[in-house]
Amino acid sequence: MLLRHTPKEINERRALTINPAKTCQPIGAMYAALGVHGCLPHSHGSQGCCAYHRSALTRHYKEPISAGTSSFTEGASVFGGQANLLQAIDNMFTVYEPEVVAVHTTCLSETIGDDLPQIIDKAGKDGKIPAGKHVIYANTPSYVGSHVTGFSNMVKGMARMAESGGHKNGKVNVIPGWVEPADMEEIKRLAGLIGVGIILFPDTSGILNGPLSGEFKMFPEGGVTIEQLKSAGDSIGTLALGEWCSADAARYLDTNNKVPCRVLDIPIGLKATDRFVDALRIIAGVSVPEEVTHERGQLVDMISDMHQYFYHKTVALAGDPDQLIALTEFLVSIDMWPIHIVSGTPGKAFVGRIKELTADLPCQVNVKSDRNADMFLLHQWIKQQPVDLLIGNSYLKYISRDEDIPLVRWGFPILDRVGHQYFPTVGYKGGLRLLEKILTAILDRKDRDDTEQAFELVM
Ligand code: SF4
Repeated sequence: MLLRHTPKEINERRALTINPAKTCQPIGAMYAALGVHGCLPHSHGSQGCCAYHRSALTRHYKEPISAGTSSFTEGASVFGGQANLLQAIDNMFTVYEPEVVAVHTTCLSETIGDDLPQIIDKAGKDGKIPAGKHVIYANTPSYVGSHVTGFSNMVKGMARMAESGGHKNGKVNVIPGWVEPADMEEIKRLAGLIGVGIILFPDTSGILNGPLSGEFKMFPEGGVTIEQLKSAGDSIGTLALGEWCSADAARYLDTNNKVPCRVLDIPIGLKATDRFVDALRIIAGVSVPEEVTHERGQLVDMISDMHQYFYHKTVALAGDPDQLIALTEFLVSIDMWPIHIVSGTPGKAFVGRIKELTADLPCQVNVKSDRNADMFLLHQWIKQQPVDLLIGNSYLKYISRDEDIPLVRWGFPILDRVGHQYFPTVGYKGGLRLLEKILTAILDRKDRDDTEQAFELVM
C-alpha cells in the first residue's frame, strides 16, 4: 500500500507533478553519447548532476558508466563555466585518451547561459583538443523536455559531424531512437539479412551489453565511429525511427547534407516492423529474404495461437512517445485495449497519433503527454477504470502492487530486472519476446486466480 494516498477523484494540477513519467534531459544525451565509439560523455554542470546521470544509466544497464563533469562550484555558478570546461577537456584527452568527448549542458549551465560552441571552439584554438580527436555537444536544459529530448539533441550533435564529399557511399543512415543495445543489434541484423549497408547512430550495442572478459576496457569495441558519422553526409538516405528521438537529426542531414530522410515508427510489433523491412527492401531494390519472411511467420503464428488470451485485455501504459506509439499499434493489432496512456515527454502530436491508433476501440481511451502527465494520474485513471495489465518501467511496480495488476517491465528505466540489454523487442524476433512477456504475465495471473475446476495444465 505504498501509494495508498492516491485518491480516485481527479483534480486539475498545474504546479505539481507526482512520480513523473520522464527523467532529466542529460540522461538521454549521455545514453546517446555512449553509442559513439571511444566517446567519453561530459556533463557541463555540478558533480551532483553528473552522479545522477551516471547512476541512472548504471542502474538500468548494470554496467559502470564513465563520464566527466565540469564540477561547478559557487565561482563557476556565478561567473560561468568556461574555465572549468576548458580544463576538463584538456584533462579528459590527456588522462583518458577518448576519441570523442560529448558535452551536454545541465539546468545550471543553461541558466548561466554558457555558450558551448564558443567554448569548444576556444578549446580547439587553445590546443586542448588533440589532432584527430573531436568534441561534440548538445544543449540539454532539463527544465524543458525530458530524457527523450536530451537523446534527440545529442543525436543531432552527431549529425553535425556529417560531411558531404560529393560521392555517395551507397549506405543508408538508420537512426534507431532510444532503444536497447540488443535492439540496435537486431536492427543491424535485419538490415544485414536484407542486404542493406547501414550507418547506425547511435549504436550502444557492444558497449552496454558487452561480455565480462576479465579485462577492463575504458572504451569497448562497439559504437558508431567518427569516420562513419562523417560519411553519413554521403549516404543515399536516412531512416529515422521515431519522431521524438530521431527525426531532428534526420531532418538536419536532409537540409544540410541533402540526404533525403523518411521518418518511421520504431519497428516494435508486426505492422511497424513490416514498414521498416519494406523501407529497407525498397532501398536495397530486393525482395524480402526468406529468413525474414520466416521470422515474420513465427510472430503471426504466436499471435494467432494465443489470441484468445490477448483478446480484449485492457492495458495501462507509461513511457516515451516513440515507444508508446509503436506499442499501442501492436497491442491494438492483437486485440488488446490500451486504455490509459501517459508520457512525461511533451508533444501534442502524440495524443493525436494515439487517438488515431485507438479510434476503433469501443471504449474510452485516456491519453496525456506533457510535464504533468505523471504516474499519479495514471494510477487515478486505473482506480476509476481498472486494467488487466500494466506495461512500462520499474516505477510502475508500486501501482502494480497496490492494485494487484501484473506488470510487464519494458522501457526506461528498468531497475529491478535484467534481460532488456540482451534480448531485443524490435523486429519480428523482438515482437515474439514482447508477446512472450505479455503472455507470461497474463497466464501467470490466470493460474493464480483460476478456481480448482478451471485450473488447466495445457493452455
Ligand atoms: S539539476 Fe537539472 S540537469 Fe541536474 S540532475 Fe537535476 S534536472 Fe538533471
